[in-house]
Amino acid sequence: MQHEIIKVAKFGGSSLASAEQFEKAGAIVKADASRRYVVPSAPGKRDKSDFKVTDMLYECYNSVMEGRDLSVPFGKIIERYSGIVEGLGLKLSLKDEFDSIRSAMLHRAGRDYVASRGEYLNAKILAEYLEFDFIDASEVIFFSDNGNFDSDKTNEILSAVLRRHKTAVIPGFYGSMPNGTIKTFSRGGSDITGSIVARAAQADLYENWTDVDGFLMADPRIVPDPKRIDTITYRELRELSYMGATVLHEDAIFPVRFAGIPINIRNTNAPESNGTMIVSHAPSDNTGAITGIAGHKGFSVITIEKDMMNAELGFGRRVLEVLEKHGISFEHLPSGIDTMSVIVSTVSLSENRDRIINDICAAVDPESVSVEDGIALIAVVGRNMVKAKGTAAKVFNAITRVGTNIRMIDQGSCEFNIIIGVEEHDFERSMRAIYEEFMPD
Ligand code: ASP
Repeated sequence: MQHEIIKVAKFGGSSLASAEQFEKAGAIVKADASRRYVVPSAPGKRDKSDFKVTDMLYECYNSVMEGRDLSVPFGKIIERYSGIVEGLGLKLSLKDEFDSIRSAMLHRAGRDYVASRGEYLNAKILAEYLEFDFIDASEVIFFSDNGNFDSDKTNEILSAVLRRHKTAVIPGFYGSMPNGTIKTFSRGGSDITGSIVARAAQADLYENWTDVDGFLMADPRIVPDPKRIDTITYRELRELSYMGATVLHEDAIFPVRFAGIPINIRNTNAPESNGTMIVSHAPSDNTGAITGIAGHKGFSVITIEKDMMNAELGFGRRVLEVLEKHGISFEHLPSGIDTMSVIVSTVSLSENRDRIINDICAAVDPESVSVEDGIALIAVVGRNMVKAKGTAAKVFNAITRVGTNIRMIDQGSCEFNIIIGVEEHDFERSMRAIYEEFMPD
């Protein structure tokens, strides 16, 4: 029997912000019969000054909690959805839905329930528009009592339900707790729902439709006109997103990665572009090409000095235990013979800074401990760097060319990333210099 291709298409908030955007999304779904399951976000911003429906719903929740009138904020939400329904020329009436949501809000429904209605209503409209079935996420996406996503139960029930529907729309962002109450994922969580649906449907591809052409090799606010990444592995993506590249919710990777399903980031406003393909494995070559550069500011270096440190068993552990006690996770640990540096995010030190220094002194009795703020980290990531000679040299060339002082170097043991620390005021020009070094034009 021939394998039938199944694609899951998730559309983000800006892709479904108005009737016009719905039409684009509809045309995309209809253009390919294998796009059988569709996961929508709530309507996002139509332009920069607009509001996301999810934020408007949180506003409704706050209004009720603070005893303010609900009619104005809820009225705006009704207007948004009615505009979409009318603009699409649908016969659908959402009046009963609006009434029951309003009444639930007035009866102090939970914050997550209120927020989830953005996706719920958008999915109702999309299902009607596409003539697909509607599957309520509360019946197929589950959380455990401790609030964690219940992957096994969800996968079992969701796969069985999907098998009964040739085509369906499943709202993103939420599911239900064992007691039936609604719980949402963290913000941007419709990406996670899409990934969960793709896994349960045993899809061949998870398409994530958004408002950009895919991942760019660098942040366009820093590097002018960076190239789009055609293919990136999950591991490379983890490195880049950890360091600041955002398009996809971080947790959206796990369900599909586990199932070996590629993710394709696509642009609803430019469907002719192939976007970025995120895959488990991509062949690496020895070209030395990089996949991307990411980074951000806001790090501090704690430097600890002690003669004969290298001979002292358990030194590093005792230092890290102090950080653990203060709830701080470290980013990097570059060390010398008699010095150890720990790079942490500056916000994590907060007002505990003096106590941390005192505790380190008590734990390892060092000659000196100092904390320096204002460090930026830059990650240069690429599977093709591994076999190529001279990659690190290229990074240093670039940095030297612009006169930046490198404060730290860390080549991850996986060898597909090189991380350097620079002073914050050197951050932007260092990023640009590295990009130009690898992508001369
Ligand atoms: N609507 C939710 C948010 O704004 C979830 C999502 O769009 O993915 O965070």
